[in-house]
Amino acid sequence: MISYDVRCFICRQMFSVVEGTPQYKLVKRNMDGRHSCEDCRKLIELDAQRQSGMTPELFAALEQLELEERLSKYSDMKDILNFPKSPKDQDTPPSESKVY
Ligand SMILES: [Zn+2]
Repeated sequence: MISYDVRCFICRQMFSVVEGTPQYKLVKRNMDGRHSCEDCRKLIELDAQRQSGMTPELFAALEQLELEERLSKYSDMKDILNFPKSPKDQDTPPSESKVY
């Protein structure tokens, strides 16, 4: 089983993410990004549920987590949809001009 040791950007404790978890995906995609341990994430979620007592630090952390989740969803979607490349410049036939 593969796991990474990363530092929580909230409590500064080292924690490990294990292969197969959503957190592992986030860490693998963005090794230098901000990552939070399970305890801190629970705190953030609890705070979000209460909708009160949000500190700016927690709010920023929550925003960061949501952004990363959205980004990871977006890249997953891109993989699934696999947009075909559309030709940039299509040759348009020259319009006929009347010559008198
Ligand atoms: Zn933490």
